[in-house]
Amino acid sequence: MAEKLLEVRNLRTEFKREKGFVTAVSDVSFSIRKGEVLGLVGESGCGKTVTALSIMGLLMGTSGRVTQGEAWLHGRDLLKLSRKEMRSVRGRDVSMIFQNPMSSLNPCMRVERQLTEAILLHNKCGREGARARARQVLEAVGIPDADRTLKSYPHQLSGGMSQRVMIAMALSCEPDLMIADEPTTALDVTIQAQIMELMLEIKEQRNSGILLITHDLGVVAEMCTRVVVMYAGRIVEEAPVTELFADPVHPYTAGLIASVPKIGSGVRVLPSIPGSVPDLSVMPEGCKFAPRCRYATEKCRQSEPELTAVLGSPTRKIRCHVFGGEKGGARS
Ligand code: SF4
Repeated sequence: MAEKLLEVRNLRTEFKREKGFVTAVSDVSFSIRKGEVLGLVGESGCGKTVTALSIMGLLMGTSGRVTQGEAWLHGRDLLKLSRKEMRSVRGRDVSMIFQNPMSSLNPCMRVERQLTEAILLHNKCGREGARARARQVLEAVGIPDADRTLKSYPHQLSGGMSQRVMIAMALSCEPDLMIADEPTTALDVTIQAQIMELMLEIKEQRNSGILLITHDLGVVAEMCTRVVVMYAGRIVEEAPVTELFADPVHPYTAGLIASVPKIGSGVRVLPSIPGSVPDLSVMPEGCKFAPRCRYATEKCRQSEPELTAVLGSPTRKIRCHVFGGEKGGARS
């Protein structure tokens, strides 16, 4: 089995609200091996982005704070690094592609400077070498006139172009770990495919890992090796991608998969999961999914289940009183 690249243990992140702190992410543990693409899925507000920002040390300046946990990469716990140490890790060791390009592009700097600075920080290739690499990576993300784009300020680019520049910046140093948070949602499908292909190419060349955060289960099925499903800040199921789609065990996962349209199925109205993700400040007691779960029992409403191995499977875990543990996978 390939070597572990990232190992996250017991991550807990809280945010300050008017009446105190609320927990956005709790008891989150997972790992990514070299050459692996791990999908992190769930509805908006399930804690996927907060998990990534916590690992990247990007909660500074927000009301959030990591209160527990570890995130090991190359023998270092990222959660214990200083700002300066974290800056040296970002880019070459790990980089993040955000949903919103403006969160990582500096509006006052031309694209060339932003791209070449990132490249020069981690490579001894000189100004000209950095410029050539910047041009190459812009072309790789489908930007037709790379020279003109290099001379532009972010506000002179369309939303789709800015997104591609930001992706180029994140991939320019060919990081060991790429964290991509809904990386291509704003782009049209041909560019989406091109960028996913580029990420997979870098992964192959460098034997790197990808943490792909998305709500698009089609992308997950195509790209990922394993999947972690999050609900209300907790991991509720973890499984190899083929097993998860063939036989989702947790009622939330089953609901997510059932709501994906299938070509030729003849189904006109797709089933949906009733209700919505709970507000962080009024989390239910017990299983956080109980108010939306048709299998909920009194025990589910009173005590929160642990994440445990599914019986008979060395690769699957589930957080459920009814379908976990001894009854693993016995949903009819
Ligand atoms: Fe549903 Fe109970 Fe399982 Fe929660 S623990 S998902 S409420 S069956």
